[in-house]
Order: sequence, then structure tokens, then C-alpha cells
Amino acid sequence: MPFDEAMSRFDPVLGLEVHVELGTATKMFCGCPTAFGAAPNTQTCPTCLGLPGSLPVVNRVAVESAIRIGLALNSEIVEWCRFARKNYFYPDMPKDYQISQYDEPIAVGGWLDVAVPTDEGVRTFRVQIERAHMEEDTGKTSHQGGETGRIQGADYSLVDYNRAGIPLIEIVTKPIEGIGALAPAVAKAYVAELRSLVQALGVSDAHMHQGSLRCDVNLSIRPSPDAPLGTRSETKNVNSLRSVERAVRYEVQRQAALLAAGGRVVQETRHWHEDTGLTTPGRSKEQAEDYRYFPEPDLVPVAPSREWVEELRGTLPELPSVRRQRLQAEWGMSDFELQNLVNAGALGVVEATVADGASPAAARNWWLGELSRLANERGVEVAELPIFPADVARIIALVDDGSLTDKLARQVVAGVLAGEGSPDEVIAARGLQVVSDDSALLEAIDAAVAADPDVVEKIRGGKVQAAGVLVGAVMKATRGQADAAKVRTLLLERLGVELSG
Ligand SMILES: [Zn+2]
Repeated sequence: MPFDEAMSRFDPVLGLEVHVELGTATKMFCGCPTAFGAAPNTQTCPTCLGLPGSLPVVNRVAVESAIRIGLALNSEIVEWCRFARKNYFYPDMPKDYQISQYDEPIAVGGWLDVAVPTDEGVRTFRVQIERAHMEEDTGKTSHQGGETGRIQGADYSLVDYNRAGIPLIEIVTKPIEGIGALAPAVAKAYVAELRSLVQALGVSDAHMHQGSLRCDVNLSIRPSPDAPLGTRSETKNVNSLRSVERAVRYEVQRQAALLAAGGRVVQETRHWHEDTGLTTPGRSKEQAEDYRYFPEPDLVPVAPSREWVEELRGTLPELPSVRRQRLQAEWGMSDFELQNLVNAGALGVVEATVADGASPAAARNWWLGELSRLANERGVEVAELPIFPADVARIIALVDDGSLTDKLARQVVAGVLAGEGSPDEVIAARGLQVVSDDSALLEAIDAAVAADPDVVEKIRGGKVQAAGVLVGAVMKATRGQADAAKVRTLLLERLGVELSG
């Protein structure tokens, strides 16, 4: 069913569970390293493999990160909490259980404001947080020989336990209601804001493509906003912002088509497929196993002292929403202009460019214009381009003082990106200075005038627009390194034509 039609008949309710892998040096309950990309099963030990006789010990830095995330989300940090064993029979945990927090999470309640661009401008929604809890990540299984990469039809399966035991914080929202057709955009904006938040806190690199931040999307629909909540589906491990938005949109459409045809939504987990933009059924919750949670007997409860919590509150950096408000006020930008910078991932580089002396407007134009275009061409984020904000600030300064035209400046950018050095080195090597020496310009103008008497005749006869031909000739003679407006002025002066305006 088309999205618009689905929205005219149903009201969506969202719930988001975001898993953040913490950037600690060691795992949650042992001293194994956590570096990404190591050879399979090289970062394991008896504890994270759950061998008999091994005992887990809680990673203090992970608890600290959990508390800081909770504080940044305006949550209450509990005085006492503990871990539970979540028992299951998947091979991705060698112990046959995962250590998690069940009914006693470390952070409870709270909220996160998210800004969503709409047709009527940027709207802010307050997403209520249910809880944030600590757990350990699971290992990674890969199924070989089948066509789909799933266990069905595979010849054999491989398992890598390097990730098993890496600290995770799971942040769960309360049901997000009253967002209507903005549901896909709200989901995306929430995950983006949470990602900025944990990056600002320095607790995770939050790389979605590497799985260090991933989102489970819960979605249900109902006939009207005052009807009881519908049955929800849970789409697991969505790992890009764009996919979060698409998965919400798809599930709204899928469920609406089902209900409209008189069917019912089954409570189940679903898999997201990036290539097709579809979700497919995973496990059905109705036949899912009981995890038989029970308190983890090998770990003492976590009871953060109030002094420690307050000390950690003091380590919170300026949070992204506060920083954006401050920059917007300092730069005098509209909500829309600022939101564009945020969406383009260019806020940080623009801030640095301004710090290096450029005006906010010029910095914004360069990063959202030419540099975004080049980043798109290369398929990278604008902030990943091999050019420093200081280089961009230098180029802007040279344009401002007339040493470069916009056209030359773009050539300087190209040179810096090609690895030819700093802007000044590129200018020297490529000879890109603007020709501002009047005598050199007049020489080129005289040559152009001498070469084209017919055009000169027209201009003198009143057809001033014909001057473009001669300006073009001068620009060509100076290899584009003259200021075209200045050439035009000098040319008309030379021909004794009155300038109007
Ligand atoms: Zn280990």
C-alpha cells in the first residue's frame, strides 16, 4: 500500500532500541582487547568463552560510560542494579547465555530532543526514554554455502567470538506516539541525535557500518490515535540512518496492507534487507523461547555512589543540542540553514573553518557547495575529504582579498584534494594567482581590441553587451586568472564607453 494511503488510514507508533558498542580498551567482563577487524577468535579468553572455573569482573570504564550516557539522556541513575543471565541456545554466545540487565537497568527514564525537518520548517520532538542498560555483545556467526547467507540451506557455519563480551549499552525508548507521517523521519533523527550524543561523550565511535551502533525498530499501527496499541514487529540490526528511515516506512506500508486486507500482524522479529528495501520474517515471538532470566551469581551488584555519579556529571561535555543552539546564535543562521549543515555532516568542519578565521556564511557555502559536490563524487562524507578546515579558511581569505576568483579557488581546492599540498603550495605550483597588475591586463585588453575591430565598432556604436566577446578573449589570454568584472571595467574605460549604473 502506498505510504500516503497507509498514513490516511492508520496511526503509527514507534519504539526504538539502539545498541551502542562502547569504545573501551577491554571487554565487559574480561581483559580481552576490543579492536575491530582482528583475525577471528584471536581476542578471546576462558572468561568470555565461558570456560569452567573462569569468573567475570565488571569493567569500571564501561559502567562509567553507561552512567555518562544515562546522565546525558536526563535519566535517573539507580543506586543499585545488577546483571542477569539471559539463557538461550544460539551459538553466538559460547556460554549459552548472555550477561545483560533484565529488570534492573542502571539508568531509568529520561528524554532526548530531536529536530526533524518538515515542510513547515524544523520541528522538535521530545522522545521519552524508558531505560538504558548494560550488557555484553554476542559473537558473530556466518553461514556458508547457502544462497541467502542464512542458516537455512547453508552447508556449514563459522563463528567468531572476538565481539562476544564487548560492552554494549542498550537504550530503549518509550512508545513514540503522535508523529503520524513523520515516523520515518523521527526514527532517523533520533538515531542520528543519539549517535552525535555518544560521539560527543567520547564513549563510542558509533560507526553504524561496523555495527558499533545499531538499531532495532519496533513498529505497530492502529486505526486511530485513540485506539489501543496494535501488534508490533521488531526489525533487527538496522545499521544505517537511511535504512532506519526506510525500514519504518516499509513496515508501515506492509502492516497497513495486511490489516486493510483483513489480515493480522504477527508479533515477530524481522530482518532488514538493504538491497531490496524489504523486511522478511525472522523468529516469531509467539514461538520464541523463554530466556529464563535469573540474577548472574558470579557478579556483585553495581551500586554507583552519589559522589561518583556527580563527579561523572561534571565530565559531561557540551551536548550536541546545546552546541548547535550556541553555534546557530553565534552565526546568525536560520533553523533550516543549520539543519542543512547537520544533515550534511558538516557542522564540525564549518565550526573549525570559522575558528580559522572564515566568516560563517562563506564557510557554510564552501562546505555545502563545492566540497559537498566533490565528496558526493568520491562517495565519502564531506568531513572525510583530505582537506583541512584551515585550508578552506585560507582559500576563503584569498578570495576575499581578491587574490583568487571563485573559479581559481575551485582549482586550488582540486589541487589540495589531489595531494599537491597546501593552498599556497598549489597556487605557486599551478601559477593560480589572479592577474591584478593593471598594466598586464591592459596589455591583454589592447591585444584583444586590436584583434577584433568589428566588435569594437559595435561596442562604440552602443552595443555594450558585445564587450563579452573581448572580456572572454582577455580571460583566455590570462588563462582565467583575471577578475572578469575588472577586465570589463578596464575595457570599457579603454574604449571610452560611458558606464551606466
Ligand atoms: Zn575474554
